[in-house]
Amino acid sequence: MNSYHQDSGLFFQQVSKGIEEKLDKSELVQIAFNLALGCERLLKGILYDINPLYVLTEPSFKNSMQIGYADRLLPESKGSGELLKTPIQDVITYKNSLLRAQLVSKTVANHKNILFAISEARDIIAHCNLKELDVEKINDIIQRDFFTMLDFFAQELAIKPHHYFGGHHDKLFKISISKQTDLSKRIELILERHIKKWEQHKVLDGYVKKQQLQTKSILNSSDRATCKCPVCKQDAIIYLEPIIENKSYVNLNGIIGYEIVKIRCLFCKLNEDDPRIMDNWKLNLSRLTKPCTNCKTYFHFDGHAFCEDCRPDDRGQIGLF
Ligand SMILES: [Zn+2]
Ligand SMILES: [Zn+2]
Repeated sequence: MNSYHQDSGLFFQQVSKGIEEKLDKSELVQIAFNLALGCERLLKGILYDINPLYVLTEPSFKNSMQIGYADRLLPESKGSGELLKTPIQDVITYKNSLLRAQLVSKTVANHKNILFAISEARDIIAHCNLKELDVEKINDIIQRDFFTMLDFFAQELAIKPHHYFGGHHDKLFKISISKQTDLSKRIELILERHIKKWEQHKVLDGYVKKQQLQTKSILNSSDRATCKCPVCKQDAIIYLEPIIENKSYVNLNGIIGYEIVKIRCLFCKLNEDDPRIMDNWKLNLSRLTKPCTNCKTYFHFDGHAFCEDCRPDDRGQIGLF
């Protein structure tokens, strides 16, 4: 790993540490600045990997020979007219690095506008009145795009995600998902996050058995049912809320149906209550089952704790009305 990539991790880990669900302006300014410093090094790192001369403002032989390969010069070559008297150490700017790196990196090309916006925020923070900073825009970039973008870079450059995110990977993943406005992107990330969790956990000794037992015990409570988890295909728990309507003619409150309020899966740790997402997964009552409290066989959910075979004959209660 070249020193630009090495150093970018230092700044990105500061960013990762600082990101929370709520950030005030002073926190955003600090994080944005670290983010820009990290991105600038990352872009240079990509160019440097191809050819170290691509990051120099003066890449000619006269100059670069002394900067990049000074150890190769013979002692008697010092002071030669073929070499600049005073070598120019300057490296190209953030924006120039971006213009060059987008030609060779798919991730840079796909995140060009975000990377430009980060550069602009850095310029304002460094040189201008902070009032000029587009707080909402930089907030979105920090909370939503930082994680997904750096995750792409980690894949493209074969760098361990830990180098960018430190120990904050899952926190950043969760915050990024919550900020996605595009529903399909959000669902895609939820699936990715929880498949990862399932893959990591299922190999642990006794894990699956333990979650099975706990799931069964939760399903014994009223207003709980189950269906296949959309992520890991194990038994997920569906939390239901009875829809109660006053039956005025008998002056009694009666359950007229159930609303699905949440899906939770102990196996892959999915915990989702966004109705748009649950609709997308086509969670509806007709797909729900429940183990009978008595005989343990699964029956189609209808609000009862017992399957039809185990249910006491309740016709006698009609007399109450
Ligand atoms: Zn699951
Ligand atoms: Zn039964």
